[in-house]
Amino acid sequence: MIALQSYVGGQWVAGTGTPVPLHDPATEAVLGEVRPAGVDFGAALRHAREVGGPALRALTFPQRAEKLKLLSALLHEHRDALIEIAGRNGGNTRGDAKFDLDGASGTLAFYAGLGKALPDGNLLPDGDGVQLGRTPRFWGQHVYTPRPGVALHINAFNFPAWGMGEKIACALLAGVPVIEKAGTPSAMLAHRIAQLVVDSGILPEGAFQFVAGSASGLLDLLGPMDAVAFTGSSRTGALIRGNPNLVARNVRVNIEADSINPAVLGPDVESGGDTFEQFLANVAVDMTQKAGQKCTAVRRILVPQAMVGEVQEALVERLRAVKVGNPLDDSVRMGPVASRDQLRDVRAGIDQLAAVADVVLGGKQPIAEKGYFVAATLLRARDAEAAVLHELEVFGPCATIVPYDGSAARAVGLCNRGGGGLVASVYSDDRAFVEAVVQGIAPWHGRVWLGSEKTHGQALGPGAVLPASIHGGPGRAGGGEELGGLRGLHPYLQRTAVQGDRAVVAKAFGLDGSTA
Ligand code: NAP
Repeated sequence: MIALQSYVGGQWVAGTGTPVPLHDPATEAVLGEVRPAGVDFGAALRHAREVGGPALRALTFPQRAEKLKLLSALLHEHRDALIEIAGRNGGNTRGDAKFDLDGASGTLAFYAGLGKALPDGNLLPDGDGVQLGRTPRFWGQHVYTPRPGVALHINAFNFPAWGMGEKIACALLAGVPVIEKAGTPSAMLAHRIAQLVVDSGILPEGAFQFVAGSASGLLDLLGPMDAVAFTGSSRTGALIRGNPNLVARNVRVNIEADSINPAVLGPDVESGGDTFEQFLANVAVDMTQKAGQKCTAVRRILVPQAMVGEVQEALVERLRAVKVGNPLDDSVRMGPVASRDQLRDVRAGIDQLAAVADVVLGGKQPIAEKGYFVAATLLRARDAEAAVLHELEVFGPCATIVPYDGSAARAVGLCNRGGGGLVASVYSDDRAFVEAVVQGIAPWHGRVWLGSEKTHGQALGPGAVLPASIHGGPGRAGGGEELGGLRGLHPYLQRTAVQGDRAVVAKAFGLDGSTA
């Protein structure tokens, strides 16, 4: 049994307060504990601001990129041991754990590659310069510089590795020290990664601190140069956004919250074709990978009325073939949900959906004597308008077929009922349909993923978040944005318009010194 500690102020610190047990969700065995209190957040912030930040900014973008490359290699080197922890404390199958860990190391490597090509130093020109005066003598140039603050990263339980990896990649490359707060139920993996990072000595002291337990009180100490990047539920996101200190001091806050992601099957798609197969495969993966605990997983499956029968039958067949059990067994394809609380919430959510939809597979009944297991659960809506279908995120292996009339307008209307989403996927080979749907749903979604015959087998499905594309979404998805190449650094950089003599401005701060 391990008691997780926090790494703050250059040392590991034991928590205090009532212990929260950490479980193996497959067996319910207690593996460790986290104590919520005991961290001196004021000292942690000082350490980051006075030691970590200056040390990071003494390096150039390419030098910090080199650190990310080493961190990526570090995760890769310890991959097998980390996979095992994700299996025990996270309920992850080997495939689930690889998705999380390779997502982390891949994102770190991606930003290492981007950073290598950035200018030496700590200044990034933003676009071309522009004439601001009567003659070109008076010139303006936007530039980005690292903010001398701290990045507080509050992560959700479902991606302990990737969630931390993608956030630290952007902040550290930008030159801002991080404090990582792990989601408690699966914190053992994040904790082990933190130990590896600290022991490796790759990062300068103070650049990386780790909190196991509660971050309560920390938000109240943040200032105008700091940034909060939160990933979790809409409910907690709203609490953080409304924190009076963050509001009063205009602390930057990025919220990545939940989303009732739709997948739309176009009316032109015929069963048996590549587009149909891609649609089925992606929906089935999203429902069962990580036991459906992905913020990007499909929750609403929009199917033209005439195809509902065959889609239902084909999905049921695929989902039935997924072996559920202890994820440490290599033949198992879906493990349990992460905690007893998750199990309770998922069952209650299925109940709420079942009030407006028929359960065609699975349901909330227990499927094992021990462990937090939920069957893959497919429902079919009786009333496509029912609010709960579009508003309730059941964070488990659960999705609902929502019949529609096959028109682009109706598909758009139903997708947007989600109130703002992380990702919508559209499967069709009819360009007019695709264009109409994309135009209609783009303002309400951070990402739109198009499936077609031409793309079958070409890429990961819509559930995968890739560092080159933005991740986030409007409205209930949190209104935030992460990743997207260099855009991912922006929360940690200040953009400033420098105005003056063109000879100085363009040469010192412009993209091309020769324009002076
Ligand atoms: P959660 O309960 O909202 O918790 C998220 C994080 O916030 C955890 O680290 C939690 O710590 C912390 N927290 C809770 N209350 C807080 C408070 N008052 N002040 C500061 N921090 C607080 O979410 P979860 O159950 O971990 O994660 C599942 C949810 O996250 C799902 O709704 C999913 O859709 C969403 N999610 C979104 C994304 C995305 O990128 N958009 C990605 C993954 C997950 P404790 O664990 O210690 O309570």
